[in-house]
This record gives sequence, C-alpha cells and structure tokens, in this order.
Amino acid sequence: MPRPVRPSRRLDLVTYDIRGPLSRRARELEAEGRNILRLNIGNPAAFGFRVPDVLREAVERGVADSEAYCHQQGLPQARAAIADRERARGAQSVSPESVFIGNGVSELIDLGLRALLDPGDEVLVPAPDYPLWSAAVRLNDGVPVYYDCAVENGFLPDPQRLESRIGPRTRALVLINPNNPTGAVYPRGLLEQLVGIARRHDLLLMADEIYDNILYDGAAFTPLAELAGATPCLSFGGLSKVFRACGYRVGWMSVSGKPESTAILRERLELLSALRLCANVAGQYAIEPALAGESSILELTAPGGRLYETRRMLVDHCARSGHLSLVAPAGALYAFPRIEVPGIDDHTFALALLEQESVLVVPGRGFNIDRPDHLRLTLLPDAPVMAEVVERIERQIARMAGD
Ligand code: PLP
Repeated sequence: MPRPVRPSRRLDLVTYDIRGPLSRRARELEAEGRNILRLNIGNPAAFGFRVPDVLREAVERGVADSEAYCHQQGLPQARAAIADRERARGAQSVSPESVFIGNGVSELIDLGLRALLDPGDEVLVPAPDYPLWSAAVRLNDGVPVYYDCAVENGFLPDPQRLESRIGPRTRALVLINPNNPTGAVYPRGLLEQLVGIARRHDLLLMADEIYDNILYDGAAFTPLAELAGATPCLSFGGLSKVFRACGYRVGWMSVSGKPESTAILRERLELLSALRLCANVAGQYAIEPALAGESSILELTAPGGRLYETRRMLVDHCARSGHLSLVAPAGALYAFPRIEVPGIDDHTFALALLEQESVLVVPGRGFNIDRPDHLRLTLLPDAPVMAEVVERIERQIARMAGD
C-alpha cells in the first residue's frame, strides 16, 4: 500500500474551531435526524437575512460581463468606489491603484501577510482573535504574539502592555474593530494611542474592519486609516457582513500611508494578486451600489431591528443569569459570554450543549485565549430562537452545575 501522504507541518499549528470538531459532530447528529440550532458561524443568509435587492440585481446584470478574468486587483469601477469611500472617511492617500479586491477578506488577510512576512517575523494579534488571523500568520511562517483584550477591561487592549510585547522581529499590529468575537468597538483615543505605537516601532497596521457599520446603542466606529495618516496601514472591508452577502465572496483591502513608504509593498501585493489572476468577477458588481449609500443594516441594528432585539434579549438574560455574564457587544454579530460553572470548561460545556440540547456554539479557546470560560454565539437568530437557545443553555448549566 502507498504510504500515507504527509501534509505540511505548518498545518499542525493551525486550528479553526468555528468549523472544527464540534461542527463535524453536529453534522453527524443532523444525519441521524436531529435538528441542531447552529450558532457557530456569522452567516446571515443561513438565518433568513437577504442581500439588499440593489446588490443582487447589480450582480445579476453583471453576470453577462463576468466571463473574462478582470484586472488582478479587481474591476476598475469597483476599486474607484472603494477608494472614494476610503478618502471620504479620511484616508486621503487611497487611490484605485492601492485597492485590492479579493474573494472575501479571508483571501486578502492571507495575501497581505504573505506579502509582508519572512520566516520568524512576529505579528501582534489580539487575544481573543478571529482565528483566521493566527492561522494566516502561521501559514506564512510568522509567529502570532498575542496582546490581551481582557474581559475585565471590556475586551479593550491595554496600550502599555501591548507595547511591551514588541520585539526586534515584530512587523505588524492587527486590530479587529468592531471585534469578532467580543463585539468591542475601540474608542478613538485608544486607536490614536495604538497608531502612535505603530509609528514609534515601524509596524504595519492591519485593520480588519469588516463589521464597520454594525454598531449598537450609539457606538461610534473610527476607521483606523483616518488616524494613521502617513503611517502604513492595510484596511480590510467587504460585503459579507454589513451587506449580508457572504456567499458572493467579495472583500477589499486598501493600502494607505505615505506613498513612498508603501510603494514596494503595493508592488508585491500586485504580484501576489496576479498570481491568483483575479477575484470572482460577478460579485464585484455589487460593490458600487453597496458603497453608494445602501444602509439597510441600520434598520437591523436600531431599536426594534432584528439584530438589536436579539442582542438586547441576550444581554438582559445574562444580567439575570447566575452563571453567565456578558460584556454587551457594541458592534459586530456575536456575543462572547463568560460561563461560570465550577469545574466545567468551555470545550466540555459546548460538547455537552450540543449532545444534550442540540445547540452548537464555539468554545472561547477557539479564539486563542488561554482561559477556559467563554463561549461565542452569533446574534443572527431572531429573538424567539435566541430565547430558546438561552433556555437550553441554562438547562445545560443546571444539569452540569447540579443546581
Ligand atoms: N474578518 C473577520 C473579523 C471575520 O469575522 C470574518 C468572517 O467571519 C472575516 C474576516 C472573513 O470574511 P469574508 O472572507 O467573508 O470577507
């Protein structure tokens, strides 16, 4: 028999628990006929949300013109729309030539890190993080160095402690704002401090802002590129979340900062983009109408809106619960509650919740924290379904806590 193929050792260092072993177990249970409430993925369409009509119609019209490869960085008119928006948001240095469109932000995170890193280079990554960031750093032979965004600090980073983690090999500072998994939205003053750190230590800023317009209760989002000015910054945005178009696979990355400082990086990004030819073309037709003021997300996040009400239901419940506590998410599509049941860790609880209550959530350690007492669930179900989820979580806690 041929010997088993040995995959790359790099992959030994990579996990993605959002679609990990628990998700596979959920599929087995579903094959046995069980109805699983899946709260593990921030995939709006799976919960009945629709892509806004103007976007869908633009893609439908664009399909006829989508048979050829396009420019490696994306359709010119789509890049122009992104550059216009970035400039309007204060990132004066962004031009269509410094915008890169990809198959989702996911592809561009990998592309950006690949263009930057040499083996052993370090990247400051928040803990908790969206785990693609850790994975992409490792897959590009870098080392994620975590800065803590502790629950005790409302999931915000402490700039001094973050700065103390910088060493001679540190190349970049990753910010996820609004944050997945915690829902934290970083105040302007904090972002200014972080930009100052990047400037002092010559770090590339990498701002994952895919949730930029998903904000609750008056939270204010500040684009990092606005504050970064001449400091090199890669900003990431896309259609998956704000415009509920995950399946279109459309994301973008804009390079800002003093043009002389980013010229070689942009050249290398262009080369990497060319190597994969181009992103899905049809989906790119949705970019212009999306950025021309489509704002239906605001109806969902305002009081009475579906996301708002589900979040409120969960926040209110956790305030009453004896075993769950929650920093109310100020943005994005997730809650990251702490679960306090003596002797029970996140993995044990999440598996038991799946097996006994048919609810799929992600253990907090899937987001690269070393404490075992958090869970992540998406806010995408409607409030009645979330009420049912909460009831099942409490029932499971009671079972395990011996209440
Ligand atoms: N960044 C963050 C913080 C995310 O939560 C996600 C998806 O959940 C992505 C990036 C990737 O998004 P996409 O590849 O769909 O654009």
